[in-house]
This record gives sequence, C-alpha cells and structure tokens, in this order.
Amino acid sequence: KKWAYRFGGGTAEGSVADVALLGGKGANLAEMASLGLPVPPGLTIPADACSWYFENGRCLPEDLKTQVLEGITAMEAETGRSFGGSAKPLLLSIRSGARASMPGMMDTVLNLGLNDETVQALGHDASDARFAWDSYRRFIQMYGDVVMGIDHEVFEEILEDEKARHGHDYDTDLSAVQWQHVVALYKKMIEEEFGETFPQDPHVQLWGAIAAVFASWMNPRAATYRMLHRIPEAWGTAVNVQAMVFGNHGSSSATGVAFTRNPSTGEKALYGEFLVNAQGEDVVAGIRTPQSLTEEGRQASGSEKPSMEKLMPETFREFVAICERLETHYCDMQDVEFTVERGKLWMLQTRSGKRTTRAAMKIAVDMVAEGLIGEEEAVARIEPSSLDQLLHPTIDPRVERTVIGSGLPASPGAAVGEIVFTAEEAVAAEAGGRKVILVRVETSPEDIHGMHAAEAILTTRGGMTSHAAVVARGMGIPCVVGAGTMRVDLRNEQLICPGGIVLKKGDIITVDGSSGHVLKGAIAMVQPELSGDFARLMDWADKARRMRVRTNADTPQDARAGRSFGAEGIGLCRTEHMFFEGDRIHVMREMILAEDEAGRRAALVKLLPMQRSDFVELFSIMHGLPVAIRLLDPPLHEFLPKSDEEIDEVARGMDMEPGLLRRRVEALHEFNPMLGHRGCRLAISYPEIAEMQARAIFEAAVEAGRETGEPVTLEILVPLVALRAELDYVKACIDGVAAEVVRETGVEIAYLAGTMIELPRAALRAHVIAETAEFFSFGTNDLTQTTFGISRDDAASFIPTYQRKGIIDQDPFVSLDFDGVGELIRLASDRGRQTRPDLKLGICGEHGGDPASITFCEDAGLDYVSCSPFRVPIARLAAAQAAI
Ligand code: PEP
Ligand code: MG
Repeated sequence: KKWAYRFGGGTAEGSVADVALLGGKGANLAEMASLGLPVPPGLTIPADACSWYFENGRCLPEDLKTQVLEGITAMEAETGRSFGGSAKPLLLSIRSGARASMPGMMDTVLNLGLNDETVQALGHDASDARFAWDSYRRFIQMYGDVVMGIDHEVFEEILEDEKARHGHDYDTDLSAVQWQHVVALYKKMIEEEFGETFPQDPHVQLWGAIAAVFASWMNPRAATYRMLHRIPEAWGTAVNVQAMVFGNHGSSSATGVAFTRNPSTGEKALYGEFLVNAQGEDVVAGIRTPQSLTEEGRQASGSEKPSMEKLMPETFREFVAICERLETHYCDMQDVEFTVERGKLWMLQTRSGKRTTRAAMKIAVDMVAEGLIGEEEAVARIEPSSLDQLLHPTIDPRVERTVIGSGLPASPGAAVGEIVFTAEEAVAAEAGGRKVILVRVETSPEDIHGMHAAEAILTTRGGMTSHAAVVARGMGIPCVVGAGTMRVDLRNEQLICPGGIVLKKGDIITVDGSSGHVLKGAIAMVQPELSGDFARLMDWADKARRMRVRTNADTPQDARAGRSFGAEGIGLCRTEHMFFEGDRIHVMREMILAEDEAGRRAALVKLLPMQRSDFVELFSIMHGLPVAIRLLDPPLHEFLPKSDEEIDEVARGMDMEPGLLRRRVEALHEFNPMLGHRGCRLAISYPEIAEMQARAIFEAAVEAGRETGEPVTLEILVPLVALRAELDYVKACIDGVAAEVVRETGVEIAYLAGTMIELPRAALRAHVIAETAEFFSFGTNDLTQTTFGISRDDAASFIPTYQRKGIIDQDPFVSLDFDGVGELIRLASDRGRQTRPDLKLGICGEHGGDPASITFCEDAGLDYVSCSPFRVPIARLAAAQAAI
C-alpha cells in the first residue's frame, strides 16, 4: 500500500487528477511541482490513511511511517538539510488537505523539528538567533494547541505579560533573548499545568502532528462545515508534510496570498496581499492589515505601505509570470499562496479561487473571449443557486445617507439589520425572525453559524482574504471588513464610530458590501440590472438547454417579474390568490356563506369581471406565450375568519349575525384540510365555481386576443385529481362553458385541458387519466406530501431532526426525493405518454426552481419546469447544465 506520494524538484508522484486521494492541496502541489514551479519538496499522505487511522483505534500504520521517513530522506537530499540535524536542520510543515476546500476547519503545525538543540542550529545557520527563537515559540504554541490540546489563549497570556513587562507593543519588538525566555516560560507552563514535557524528539513530534491533523477531521467545527457543505465524512483528509520555507526571515522575506483575477469583480488583474517578514498564517488570520501586491491595488486602497511590485520588483515579476502560467494551465482563476524566503520565491498552494457570482460571470465570459474555455464550459461553471446573489438588491444611489464608517468591500450586495456582536446572538435573533448584522473585530471558524444567520457581516480588522471576507463571499452574503475607523466595544455592547456616533446592540444599520460603506438606519434598496455578462451567459444557457422554463405567477406583478427574468410562459397561476386581494375577499365570503346555489351564483357573478380582468392582464403580459391557469384549489374555509374577534368583525361588515357566521365557519371546519374538501373536489361539489372561472378565462382570452391581435396559448389545470372520472366531470364543465363563449362571441378558442399530478393514485393511473388530460403538470409539493404521508405544513417540526440524525439528507419539500417521488414522476410520464405520445409534461411545485430537481426533470424527459419569478434565471442555468 502506498502511503506517501512525493513531490518537488520538478517531479511528482501524483497530479491534479488525484484530488480524491491526495486532497485539493496535495494534488495541486504535485501538479505545480510537475510543471517545474518552485515548490518546497514534500509528500502527501493520502486520505485513505485518515480512514485507516479512525478504523484502527487512532493509530498510524507502520509501513506509513517507513514510507514517510523515506520521503523525508529525499527532502533532506533536495534541501541539503537534515531532519533533527544539529547543523542545518530541516523543518517541516504538517497541513491538512481534504478533497473539498474546508478553509481553516482543520489543523496545521508549522516549524516541526525544532527542539532545544535544533533551535541553536537554526539560529547559526540563519545567522539570526531572534528568528530561530521566534520560530521555536511559534512551534510550541501550535503544537501545544493542536497536538497537546492546550488552549492557545494560555500561550497568548504569557506572551502578553512578557511584552508588557518589557514595554513592547508588538511581537516584532521582542529580542532573541526575550523570545528564548518566552520559550522557557511556555515549556515550564506545559510541565507544571499539564504534567508533560514538550517532546524534544522530532520523530515523536512528527507522528504526533500527523495523527492530530487526521484527528482534526472529526472536530466539531469540521463536522459542522461538512454538514453545511454536504461533504461526506468518509472522504477523510490527506496530510501534506513539506519542507518549511520562511517568510519571517527578515525584510527580504514575505508571505502572501493572491487571486489571479479580482475575486469580487472578476476584473483581469492580479489581486492580492502580502506581509513582509511574516509567517503564512499571519495573512489569513487578519491580525496585521496586509499590503497590496500591485501598485494599482495600493493606489486603489489608498494605502501608504509600499506594494510588493515596488519593494521586490524582480520577485514580483517572477510571481506574475507563475500566476499567468497557472491560469492558462488550469483555465481558471487561481487562488495562490506564496512565500519569499530571503529573496527566493516559493509557491505553497494553488486552487481554483472562490469568487462572487458577479466575478464568476465576468471571468467565465472573459475566458471565452480569451479562448481559454468554450461557451458551454462557461455555462457549466456558474453555480445556478449562486445567481441569487445577483438578484439581491443594492442601495438606491439617489437616497440620502449618513456614512458612519467604511472598510473594504469584501462581498457585494447590501443588507439592513440590527447590530449584534456575537454569533450566538445572531442565531437567536434569526430564529426569532429578526434580521441582524453581525459586527465583530474579526471572525473565526467558530462564528460560522452566526455568519449564516446574519444578513451581512461587518468587521473592524482584516483584509480581503480574512476569514470573514472569504466565508461571506462563499455564502453570498454582503460583507465589509477592516472598517478600522470603527471600534467594537464588546463590554458595553457598542459600536463606536468616527464623529462621536455611538450605536448600541439592536440599532439598525445598512451594510453595503459593494462600496464598503456602513450606513446609519435602514436605507432604501433598488433591484439590480441584469445585463452585460449575465445576459450573455443566459443566452448561452438558453442555447444549451432543452427544457422550457416558465414562471409560477398569481398576479400581473409576478408575471412581469417572471418575464423580465426570461420566463417562457406561466406554468401555474394559482387563481385563489386573486381572491384575497382588496374587496374580493368579501365577495368570496359572500359566495362561500351563501345558503344555496342561487346565492352562490349571485356572488359569483360579481367575482367574474374581477377574475376576467386579471386574466386579460396576464395574457397581455405573456404575449402569446403559454399560460396555465389552475381552477380553485384550497378548501373554502381558508377564506373565512378564524378567531372570535375576526368573526365578529366580518359578521359586522356583512351585516350578518355573528352566531350564524360562527356556525357556518364551524360547519366548514375540517380535521385534515390538506386531504379534505379541496382541488377538483370543490369543482365537483360546486360546479358553478368552476363554470365562473372557466368563463372568466375564456372571455379574457377572447378579449386579450382582440386587444393584442395575438392568440392566447391557454392551458387549464385541474388540481388534485385522483380519478379519471373526476377529470372527466370537470373537463365536461370547462368544455361546456367554452362552447357557450364561442357561441356568444363568435371567436374560436384554442385551449388544452390538463391535470395536476399531485396524488400517487393519479401517477399510477396516468395512462387512464391521459385519455382525458391533454397535459400533466407535476404538483410536487402535494405529491411529496401524499407520497411521504408528511403534512407539508407540519414537516418543519421534525424534518430538521431527521436531517441531524442522518435519516434523510435533504428536505424532500426543497429538493425532490428522486427515489420515491421521482419514481412516481417517471412512471406517470411513461404511462401518460403510452396513451398520448405528445402529452406535454411539466413541473410546477417548489422543486421546479431547485437545481438538483431540475437535473432530474431533464433526465425524466419533462418538457418544462416552472418556478417562482426570482428563480427563473436559476432554472434556466440549471436546465442548461442538465442538458450539457
Ligand atoms: C403542488 O402541489 O406542487 C402545487 C404546485 O400546488 P400547491 O402548492 O398550490 O398545492
Ligand atoms: Mg398542490
């Protein structure tokens, strides 16, 4: 069994294709080494060793140790150093690296191999005792934290005391002797408080660190992250053991991170930050605010500190060339980490860079123009659900505002909310339905749950690659970082802004992640323009997809929004929603409360013109595109008042005796309304309602056809059918009205009468139902409810528990249950088309806007998906990806 894959010196035993085995970091290090880029030599222990570790009582296989030691011998040869050696010691970094990126979730140990002896050797070799002792104390601190489980705060306290004792403000002020003293204090503390001596044997350190990195796969932070990002536990993490290079080796050393294009806007310009004389984690930790790589970046940020371009021009040029090489090699924007050790550039990592949706679009479109990728590849690269970010509102530029602070625009979009200062408060507030802005000095992986719960994030420290910035961009929530003129006063729960403005917890602010501004109060928002790159990509997506995309629209407003997002028709108009608007509810109640059919008809006559005018508007907005209108679906008591006060009020308004109204409400009460007197059952009990609706639809079609000169493409949907006879009955009623309207107007009306497939029986009997139905629309909300026997209104009380306990992965009301509900869809499609080969098939449940469910629909051969207006672009893209 191969337990160590070596890389370095221009060759490697793996490549980017081995990402499942070597993890993202390991596979890309191997790839870079093979490309001949300057990568410190090292080896990757594959992810299956992680599984071995957990399956074998948390120990490491013996032959792994042998192979790792052989690999270290090779590193010694390559670097001319020796591990544990007393002349030129080889120090190692031990880093996790899973198949999917899990930033900051697992552990890392740097400077491994230092002990009381090698620290002296390092000092000699580097002619820098201060650097050696600083490295040693960093190692003890990291090893103590990661391997020995000693809280890093304990170390920080000792360090802070020492600094205070010498009157130093910064770590960099400490001398060699002072660091040496800190090391002694650290070791003493470990002995006294933990009864252990700090391990001096580099091999003991090595196996301890490797095991600890494996163990960190199971830490709660990593487990939560895996759950949120659906990363299987079985994947495990690989471990990278690599020769250390030092960015903290004086002023000709540095460490930094860069994106080969701007991750926020997508602009083609190297974008990044670095710190002189610092070690890797210092940049991402957001402890010191870093400097720009390029002059342009420095000018844009208004920073005084010189750029890398200025400070180290030659190394900078070499770095730029490597970045270009990596982009053309991977055909994608890269996120790289590098270190300069006394003038020599080393590449420590490359991976495809996280980016905002806007940047993703620009980069994809630009890369097509540059000939790096094709149009379909561009379409395939955009995560459909991320389009949501673009559809977010931004601040209305015309509105007056008070800027109370500003920082770096780390993740675009704007949001309004009340200030909270901790992740816990954010979670609690969100659970209570409040919108919050999480305000922190900086964030750490412990804050993830709070960041999820917040509308936006604001930090007072850190750069564009700080934890808050990276995570917020990934989540698609607005974020401003490094707002250094503002100060968080945690003790008094206050945010102190320049100009003497003090905001308290609970005060409302607006955060604009596109400009970096923080504004007082709630600022008005505007909807985004969907042109440029978005339109271009959508065009490509439309060319690539087979399925049509329609919108669910109950009102003219929905229909207009759906059209503007590119919907190709209405897949579902829930007519009941029209009855709730304005005065209509009163007429509707009159109808429901009528004693007999004559009374009902009298009220229906009043509803008819209202419905008709709604439909005329819908038809004219849709300009000849198909419009599917569904007959009344919900149980009638949904339209009636519920509480005693409401009943009294409605009775007064209707000039009715409250007792009588109460009795009617009680008579209509159902134990299980979702399975009660609803859907086509209403049309069968009260055909006059269906007749009125059919008449409104047909008369509107005639009128709209006359007005626009374009024939209306009309589909009428009958809800909740289980039996063909139900559909036959309702269809006869519809056809009868159609014939009447044709006779009255002298205009021929084309329409299809079809059914929702929402009940398992309808799916099973699809071949029979298709004898009457001219199309099917899968109502997967009800179909999921009735297949699982889970009430869609009550599911939320236990589905999260099911997910937490691993009984189900996904909420079946959000993402289609392929195995069960999906099976019924396939079966109904096949059976329906046996009877009627040209049977039109669509889906109009919530799943119609869910990318995974859309992939299923493509596979099942559906003709279209229909979803709420704001999800139309998502559906267009997902349908294209499903077809590619
Ligand atoms: C459905 O059941 O999937 C559907 C679209 O209808 P409604 O949500 O209105 O019940
Ligand atoms: Mg339904």
